[in-house]
Amino acid sequence: MSTTADAIRSADAHSAHTYHPLPVVIATADGAWMTDVEGRRYLDMLAGYSALNFGHGNRRLIDAARAQLERVTLTSRAFHHDRFADFCAELAALCGKEMVLPMNTGAEAVETAVKTARKWGYEVKGVPDGHAKIVVAADNFHGRTTTIVSFSTDHEARDHFGPYTPGFEIVPYGDLTALASAVTENTVAVLLEPIQGEAGVLVPPAGYLRGVRELTRERNVLFIADEIQSGLGRTGKTFACEHEGVVPDVYLLGKALGGGVVPVSAVVADRDVLGIFRPGEHGSTFGGNPLACAVALEVIAMLRTGEYQQRATELGEHLHRELNLMVGGGAVTAVRGRGLWAGVDIDPSRGTGREISEKLMELGVLVKDTHGSTIRIAPPLVISKEDLDWGLDQLRSVLGA
Ligand SMILES: *Cc1c(COP(=O)(O)O)cnc(C)c1O
Repeated sequence: MSTTADAIRSADAHSAHTYHPLPVVIATADGAWMTDVEGRRYLDMLAGYSALNFGHGNRRLIDAARAQLERVTLTSRAFHHDRFADFCAELAALCGKEMVLPMNTGAEAVETAVKTARKWGYEVKGVPDGHAKIVVAADNFHGRTTTIVSFSTDHEARDHFGPYTPGFEIVPYGDLTALASAVTENTVAVLLEPIQGEAGVLVPPAGYLRGVRELTRERNVLFIADEIQSGLGRTGKTFACEHEGVVPDVYLLGKALGGGVVPVSAVVADRDVLGIFRPGEHGSTFGGNPLACAVALEVIAMLRTGEYQQRATELGEHLHRELNLMVGGGAVTAVRGRGLWAGVDIDPSRGTGREISEKLMELGVLVKDTHGSTIRIAPPLVISKEDLDWGLDQLRSVLGA
């Protein structure tokens, strides 16, 4: 019996079946490559849904984590610690904002933003208590908590988890007219992904984010950009909103902020928004812990050089050029995305996204399908051009393109 089969059987027996992983059991990883328990190597073209933008085992991040492990890892926010102020100041500066509220997971950052927007609505905008509305987009993915799935349009994510949290209006993504008519005097925020990742790397029509920015400013509504997956270098910019020259009121960050080492998320905004919180009104035992701050500080320092954004831009142009050559060849029906991030729609007659992913795995490339027939490509930004080309060769060979 193989080690792989044993590990999978045991995981199936003792873990809740909330995922359907590819039948590969990873033991180690380095850069853009992972090695399984039987010594086979795989190119990682998913990068932990962009949590691994800087690659596996990134030296700077591992060193930062190791140094902090030897000093202090957790204090709770009951006390100050010596990495906290730097983390908040550096992250605020990276975002061009004044304040940071650190949490751990992406979903917690989204939940925190919902609370922030509601409280801001009641205390600053003057919305009658209990009546705040937040406008969100259809096909969104913002996480898995009960409130967040309350405004999901994905049946798998939502069904049988009610009763649902009220206070959300859902409009089609990319439709400014629908957004404008959904905003009322009780609207406190518009919450959007600047590119919808889980939906299949959907880039909104040109001018959409700018239109959202103008509308929210005119109507005194917060624009909350969920940059948890699109942010921190993936699209070739620090924030995907930058592609339209747009600065939202609130950034939500997660995934790559923890460098693939620890979960770190944050809500980042100016004082007129995050200043509404008083002691006791929100918190997290692990939020802003010393280990998280030390790793995130290194992530921020790496982003400040612009080198990763540059790589994502250059390799992304190459990726999209190569993928676009496959469109119309029979197997690939559409390609979307920005930077080193692509959603590739496969003609369903060539197999499901899952089947394509399994065949790619056999050739040593790990990707993840989404929504039936879409393959998502998002390798670590540290991938070499040669490895990227090799991965694309495997895709061509699986698709017979
Ligand atoms: C992954 C993701 C989240 C949720 O993050 P978790 O850390 O899994 O809770 C929220 N928003 C977007 C856009 C994401 O991609």
